[in-house]
Amino acid sequence: MRIILLGPPGSGKGTQAQLLVQRYGIVQLSTGEMLRAAVAAATPIGLKAKEIMANGGLVPDDVVVGIISDRIDQPDAKAGFILDGFPRTVPQAEALDELLKHKHLKLDAVIELRVNESALLQRVETRVAQMRERGEEVRVDDTPEVLTKRLASYRSLTEPLIHYYSERRKLSTIDGMMTIDEVTRAIHRLLLALGAVEPKTHAKSTAKSAARKGAKKAAKVARKSAKSAKKAAKSAGKASKKAAKGAKKPAKKAVKKAAKKAVKKTAKKVPKRGPKKVTKKRAKR
Ligand code: ADP
Repeated sequence: MRIILLGPPGSGKGTQAQLLVQRYGIVQLSTGEMLRAAVAAATPIGLKAKEIMANGGLVPDDVVVGIISDRIDQPDAKAGFILDGFPRTVPQAEALDELLKHKHLKLDAVIELRVNESALLQRVETRVAQMRERGEEVRVDDTPEVLTKRLASYRSLTEPLIHYYSERRKLSTIDGMMTIDEVTRAIHRLLLALGAVEPKTHAKSTAKSAARKGAKKAAKVARKSAKSAKKAAKSAGKASKKAAKGAKKPAKKAVKKAAKKAVKKTAKKVPKRGPKKVTKKRAKR
């Protein structure tokens, strides 16, 4: 599966990308993170990008296109990837189309997370506060001034991509103002509808819970059976005492037989393969 997440800073692209990575076993290719790593390692690209990023500008297209092209070729990206923060301009989108064509790869979806702009500053402020609380290093571009610049560059350079992908019938829009969980579920439903993921991903967990439910039911039946077996044994015991009063030996034998029969009968009630059957049935759906 290969998807693009589109949205302004603070729209939740990074959060959703990480959740998708866990769920589908694909990799997240975030140009922002790659560039931050390059800055931290002071590579030639990092040195070039450092100032631009700190000021909320955009790193030259050829630099990010080069990084992405190399990254897509890595073995861990073979199963699929989520592009987060790339493409960010129409020329980047055109370059991506070209390089995917060249690599014989197809995009499954472009998902736009639509949010109210008024919520963005608050979201980024919350993110900064949480990072500080956890003792993590805060991004140099997560200040209100730089965020305003990042938003402006999103509006003028990145937003045109919404038109670009909708013209190519690739765009799907999801309300990014819902809770994190609701957005994740909406993305999953969309990917299912597009046929980008197998319903199995969902059925697996359903089957598991069905199996758990089946096992619970079986245990309940077993407990009930054990109880009635005990009861039967008890009444058989009483009968044995009564019988012992009369003819001793033959009565004992008969009682033992009756008790055995009772246990067998009740034990039959326990469905041996109960949970397995349920699992198979549900998994097929
Ligand atoms: P956000 O989406 O929250 O603004 P990112 O982590 O995606 O943050 O990006 C941080 C910075 O890295 C951007 O402001 C920009 O300077 C640079 N950057 C990331 N991706 C690209 C890109 N595709 N093209 C140009 N610059 C980029």
